[in-house]
Amino acid sequence: MKVLVADDDDTFRSLVVAILTEAGYEVAAEINGLLAWERLQAEGADLAVLDVNMPEMDGFELLKHIRTDDRFKDMPVLMLTIRAFAEDQVQGYETGADDYLTKPFHNDVLLSRVKVLERRILKK
Ligand SMILES: [Mg+2]
Repeated sequence: MKVLVADDDDTFRSLVVAILTEAGYEVAAEINGLLAWERLQAEGADLAVLDVNMPEMDGFELLKHIRTDDRFKDMPVLMLTIRAFAEDQVQGYETGADDYLTKPFHNDVLLSRVKVLERRILKK
């Protein structure tokens, strides 16, 4: 199970990578949406954890690319943001996010949410 992680914040990116790696996931991490999109097209992934606020290409724009590409349109996507505003979450879901998590999060909560999305893939 390969997870694409995109977050420009070094602390959170490292944390997400550490949590998922320790749980046994293969992780590909990038520092912005553009690099993550290029990496996804080159290597593919089963699931994505995307920060909303990133330079070059933000999480919403990356999600739009993912949802309009036949190869990735059904890939589960968990969005991360430091903003707890309702409109952010609404925009996330309307753009096609499967779940939403506000930073800072508890390590176990992130892992649980990822596992829920993983079960959705395994059921197919
Ligand atoms: Mg950010």
